[in-house]
Amino acid sequence: GSTIGMLGNGQLGRMTALAAANLGYRTHAYGPDGDSPCAQVVSIETLAAFDDWAALEAFAKAVDVVTLEWENIPTATIDFLAARVPTFPGAHVLAVAQDRLEEKTFANNLGIGTAPFRAVTGVDSLRAAVADLGTPSILKSARMGYDGKGQVRLGPDSDLVAAWEALRTDSAVLEGFVTFACEVSVIVARRADGVMAAFPVVENRHAKGILDETLVPAAVTPAVAAEAARIARTLTEALGVVGLLAVEMFVTPDGQVLVNEVAPRPHNSGHWTMDFCATSQFEQLVRAVCGLPLGATDIMAPCMMKNLIGDDADQWHDLLAEPGARLHLYGKAEARPGRKMGHVNRPR
Ligand code: ATP
Ligand code: MG
Ligand code: MG
Repeated sequence: GSTIGMLGNGQLGRMTALAAANLGYRTHAYGPDGDSPCAQVVSIETLAAFDDWAALEAFAKAVDVVTLEWENIPTATIDFLAARVPTFPGAHVLAVAQDRLEEKTFANNLGIGTAPFRAVTGVDSLRAAVADLGTPSILKSARMGYDGKGQVRLGPDSDLVAAWEALRTDSAVLEGFVTFACEVSVIVARRADGVMAAFPVVENRHAKGILDETLVPAAVTPAVAAEAARIARTLTEALGVVGLLAVEMFVTPDGQVLVNEVAPRPHNSGHWTMDFCATSQFEQLVRAVCGLPLGATDIMAPCMMKNLIGDDADQWHDLLAEPGARLHLYGKAEARPGRKMGHVNRPR
């Protein structure tokens, strides 16, 4: 097909649309966001809710394949579209990726380790979970969290009633705190015929719960890198992902690799591929969902990605003047604190 339907109209959709244009595709974005980073680059945009069935019907007619940049699209929306036009990834993938309990259980059932966890549905089950796992631990809303939102860190003196009420949810997970040596991620692309390609293992450093820097390649042993890649490929295949799967992992001091969470879409830790990889993750997504040959994933040079959060993006003039720095700004109208405004890729 020649028009890609993109569910979601944030920066990930925008960068996918730019990559799609390079391969001769149009992109039709669909999403609820008025301040849309996509609007400036896509051929068509529908601003509508994910349960606006008439708008979705028209969207399905206007596109040849549908993909997404946000894993929290309602599965009913995905099912509705999938009945009309090839839609990747499928609702079964989102059902797992949308819920931390499903996600960790899915990994554990494949013999893949995670932080120890307990389901929490109220103050009583929180008390029981804390008695089981101890502190430090992290209480996370099972659904809808991102950039560390919907999480409370618990210590020995934490007020559990206040922690529970702060989450404003009826389903949460308590996770034992992992004292990791580093965090890594692997992004895998998979086509409908099962062909896969994995990007190299990268290291992620967070600040205030938000990804701050990605270092490429990760400074891990070959054994850890191989295990991280094996885990990411295993999850991608077992979930039957068509498109991309990003897998966030913890590496423990003794070299164990534990899954933190997965995202079935382009991922912030893959933004380095735009300038320092043979194929960008955005182009790879287009290739995967369109059934094209997957591109090479070789690192062209050691590099790092730094996120520009809130008013960090005010430095754009200096970043443009810096030799070797590759700046990407998302065209968002307003720089709020904690909001991802752009990123810069640099050789290292
Ligand atoms: P994202 O923006 O990646 O979707 P999120 O809001 O879904 O983030 P997590 O990835 O679960 O949140 O957690 C954010 C960060 O907090 C992790 O990358 C890690 O640095 C830290 N963290 C989360 N869970 C644990 C844990 N069990 N032990 C130690 N650190 C943790
Ligand atoms: Mg997340
Ligand atoms: Mg995360």
